[in-house]
Amino acid sequence: MSRFCARCGATESKTNPILTYLCIDCYIREKGINLVPEIVAIKTCSRCGSIKFEGKWLTPDEYGNDVKVPISYHIQENIEKSSHFSEIEIEKLQIKEELGGYYIETTVTGKVLGRVFRKIYRSSLKITRTLCPTCLKAQGKSYDATVQIRGLPRLNRKLEDKLYNEIANNVPDIIRTFIAEIEIVRNGIDVKLTSKEAAYALADYIQRKYGGYRTYSDESIKRDRSGKTVSKKTISLRILSVEPGEYINIDGKPYIVDSVYRDRIVLIDRDGKKVSMSHSDIYKGWSKKK
Ligand SMILES: [Zn+2]
Ligand SMILES: [Zn+2]
Repeated sequence: MSRFCARCGATESKTNPILTYLCIDCYIREKGINLVPEIVAIKTCSRCGSIKFEGKWLTPDEYGNDVKVPISYHIQENIEKSSHFSEIEIEKLQIKEELGGYYIETTVTGKVLGRVFRKIYRSSLKITRTLCPTCLKAQGKSYDATVQIRGLPRLNRKLEDKLYNEIANNVPDIIRTFIAEIEIVRNGIDVKLTSKEAAYALADYIQRKYGGYRTYSDESIKRDRSGKTVSKKTISLRILSVEPGEYINIDGKPYIVDSVYRDRIVLIDRDGKKVSMSHSDIYKGWSKKK
């Protein structure tokens, strides 16, 4: 008795074998979806262009001045080992830009039980700009300031991506040189800088474009054996991250968001009355609740 493909109903034959419960074409289509990693994350040094790859920093000379080389290598290494796929090779790899972010387009060829296939995969490319140990040392300092970017109430994913790309790719070089690390943390983005002035400049830059409510804190840290203390500055930027129509709770009262502006939002209260609130009103109302 011959078997059938559970997806397209094709009958099993010599030229059309059934793998588990699928014909070859359906098998390639379904099992081939996750062959290539969805996200590729690399760290690059914003000063010298070195990249951190598999735990080791490589200078541009070492990776051949083309970031595609280590990326292809990485993808090749991470291609999912799936039982019936064989001879998988990367035919072409391109890095493309879209809405200020980057993605990788990988054309992969391979075989499933002798049948050749060719598929194009799209992976998002997360580039973290940081300073490599050599450049950090050359700058002679360690992190002096952190800019914490948080949402109000919390950063939504879309805004987080946008801000991340903005900081990684669009900030003026005069600020970027001092960025030692950009890190996505649980509730936002932390940017570590080797200059307090650059941290203020970065906060200004973000605030000009996205608004936000700012708070500061200083922390004294004993840095070396001589007991010398230094201070680290943290600038917290709360960016309004709500959309019209959303329900929010401020100071224990429920509201519906009517409209959102850079520096304030208009809310509708329980009685249908419009109330305008500034960032600091909202921030204080939220903090009180916690
Ligand atoms: Zn089928
Ligand atoms: Zn470097």
